[in-house]
Amino acid sequence: MRVLVVEDERKLGELLARGLREEGYAADLAERGEEALWMARAVPYDAIVLDVMLPGLDGFEVCRRLRGDGVWSPVLMLTARDAVDDRVTGLDAGADDYLSKPFSFEELLARLRALARRAPVERPAVLEVGDLRLDPAAHRAWRGDVELDLSAKEFALLELFMRRPGVVLSRTQLLDGAWDIAYEARSNVVDVYVRYLREKIDRPFGRDSIETVRGVGYRLRSDP
Ligand code: CA
Repeated sequence: MRVLVVEDERKLGELLARGLREEGYAADLAERGEEALWMARAVPYDAIVLDVMLPGLDGFEVCRRLRGDGVWSPVLMLTARDAVDDRVTGLDAGADDYLSKPFSFEELLARLRALARRAPVERPAVLEVGDLRLDPAAHRAWRGDVELDLSAKEFALLELFMRRPGVVLSRTQLLDGAWDIAYEARSNVVDVYVRYLREKIDRPFGRDSIETVRGVGYRLRSDP
């Protein structure tokens, strides 16, 4: 089993990597999020131990970008404290499990074994929700047989929705997921783009697949 440890505190990172090697794992160490991204894209790790608190890209962002790139190695997130917010954010970012610091090495091993045992979740290359289809690699999307002509942002937004059908996504989640620049939270850019998206994926087909959940955000119907 090959594991990537992402931890900027060198002592802790080296301790974890050494401990894992003693247990028979192949363990690589990354100290920065950027480094972790290219390593995880290049190597199909069986698991990634990802610290939340990293300089530059933090653990949440690393996880989000990996999932966005179609890297599905199981991620065990190390959260700094027992904060519910961190856990929720981590799971929302696509992490599979989390462990609060401080933790025992035995518990880390047990969690890694559990992740390895877990049947691989089916994560198809092409996303399908009802008659909506989206191919992230080819950057193409269809409603039934009709190919949709989407801008890059509309595409990114639709992909976010299609990865979580039936789930309400907040404006912040959509902003974080589809926009690189940190827009202000009050920015209505999400609402504007949801409107554009509806004009392309719904209106021409007489559908209403993106629901507004007042005060919360938007949801793609599971059967759009
Ligand atoms: Ca850290």
